[in-house]
Amino acid sequence: MRRAMLAGNWKMFKNAREVDAFADDFIPLIETVHDRDILICPACIYIQRLIEAFRESPAKVGAQNVYWEDAGAYTGEISAPMLKSIGAQYAIIGHSERREYFNETNASVNKKILAVLKHGLNPIVCIGETLEERESQKAFDVIGLQIREGLTGLGIDLLQEIVIAYEPVWAIGTGKTATPDIAQEVHHYIRDVLAELFDNEYAQTIRILYGGSVKPENIDILMAQPDIDGALVGGASLDTKTFERIVKFQ
Ligand code: PEP
Repeated sequence: MRRAMLAGNWKMFKNAREVDAFADDFIPLIETVHDRDILICPACIYIQRLIEAFRESPAKVGAQNVYWEDAGAYTGEISAPMLKSIGAQYAIIGHSERREYFNETNASVNKKILAVLKHGLNPIVCIGETLEERESQKAFDVIGLQIREGLTGLGIDLLQEIVIAYEPVWAIGTGKTATPDIAQEVHHYIRDVLAELFDNEYAQTIRILYGGSVKPENIDILMAQPDIDGALVGGASLDTKTFERIVKFQ
């Protein structure tokens, strides 16, 4: 059985006071939720603050990005050993906004995945097609390539440490959610590609999250799909009550 994961990507939102207020309100709402993983990925300057706030809580904290070198003259970057040293557990890698605005490629995503695994962190690897790619029937090719190139050099022993997030670019922050059928079809395809690249048994154990305008109104139907194991949530993770409802999907 795959354990559900509900992850919030706060992007470049919230100041320090708002981060503290979220933690104060959210902690009591989820203190008895132990049967699924709850994760928040705030801006990097708040990771440690949130880890401390969540110390007695089931919620975990991750990064929105990471660099592949361990240390060096890379102004502005943050490394996997740095994240590990403050107790972060996960790092989102290859979010479509990073691919679009910060020149991330399947090759840089691959280096980042290998770097975080080397240091015992779990990557949440984002993949997904643009609207143009979907409309020109290229979605499966694009997604297949993102998996093959992104996971190059990954040993089967580390496969279970990764989480994949299918985030169709046309659904992120647009209010348009992939229908449960579309999402299920792609999640199933992702598992097929993983089975072909690695092994079918392992492919069945990998968690695949859906991301793209997830909200309280659609979480239950999305989670009812057999290959959807959780959600990566942007806008709807910024509000405690809204995210609570998503975490407590039925
Ligand atoms: C995201 O940022 O990963 C995301 C899915 O955003 P939203 O939920 O706002 O579409």
